[in-house]
Amino acid sequence: MSRSDGDSWDLTSSVGATATVVAAQRAIASRGPDPLIDDPYAEPLVRAVGGDVVATMLDGGDGPDGAAVALSRKQLAEAMAVRTRFFDGLFTRATAAGVRQAVILAAGLDTRAYRLPWPAGTVVYEIDQPAVIEFKTATLAGLGADPTAVRRTIAIDLRDDWPKALVDNGLDPSKPTAWIAEGLLIYLPPEAQDQLFDDITRLSAAGSYLATEYIPDASAFSEDRSRGVMDGFRRFGFDGELSQLVYRGQRRSLVEYLTGRGWDVSTQSLEEMYAANGFELPGDEMFAAFSDARTVSGVLTGEPSSTAP
Ligand code: SAM
Repeated sequence: MSRSDGDSWDLTSSVGATATVVAAQRAIASRGPDPLIDDPYAEPLVRAVGGDVVATMLDGGDGPDGAAVALSRKQLAEAMAVRTRFFDGLFTRATAAGVRQAVILAAGLDTRAYRLPWPAGTVVYEIDQPAVIEFKTATLAGLGADPTAVRRTIAIDLRDDWPKALVDNGLDPSKPTAWIAEGLLIYLPPEAQDQLFDDITRLSAAGSYLATEYIPDASAFSEDRSRGVMDGFRRFGFDGELSQLVYRGQRRSLVEYLTGRGWDVSTQSLEEMYAANGFELPGDEMFAAFSDARTVSGVLTGEPSSTAP
């Protein structure tokens, strides 16, 4: 199934299923006597979604034939730990600098509003499609989980007028905001990605923080190059085709785009991220396809320029 304007999903279908898969990775990374991250809600959330993929990822053996597999649980856990720590770190830095409003774009099964030690009075906004937001809110309420911040959900598609919905729900653009867009950009058409960062910049006061990650060469998601990843996930019964879910086509350089709008950004390669966490980047085909992936984080220092390239 390929993408179309206005398409929608829940946590078992299309792009929504990717939120379940990454949350299952967080569940695995949160296990054991020496967990890589601490997301106590990841496992109950993905178990509530259910399905064969979740069951195989969480409970299955090391592969149908016990042979070496493309994507081991250790690789799944480390990949997600690197990513989770990076985005947690953005919120830690932003709140330490006094920022008291945060926006989690494409929140999926992200539980930061329930597990991070937010300073009193912080408001955390979560944006995602309605079925995704509703499921998470209801499931966490059923678990008796309480948000550690004031949590406000915005059930809307990011191709629609989410800035208005955000402001209508209380975001104050005159105050700095901490934004994260984790695992999102490849699911937006290139022009929607540009629009997203225009909107973020427009709603951001100086001193706002931003973190995201991107893959400059979208051909990483061609059927050929993403085969390694998909073979790995197919082992867990995931039959979605990543190359059908992402929008390819030329994207602008995110770093230039943000810099041109007043963001002071820094980037790290996957290799640098792994090294900083004391992990070794797997040298297999899967990771080679994503070798140019970059994390991007920044602070809005200058006046945003709407005429920047
Ligand atoms: N950020 C979460 C995380 O890392 O756990 C979820 C990442 S998941 C790979 C992708 C998420 O993007 C899904 O939750 C999906 O619903 C959301 N998403 C993608 N395109 C979207 C859109 N146009 N509007 C709203 N949400 C979108």
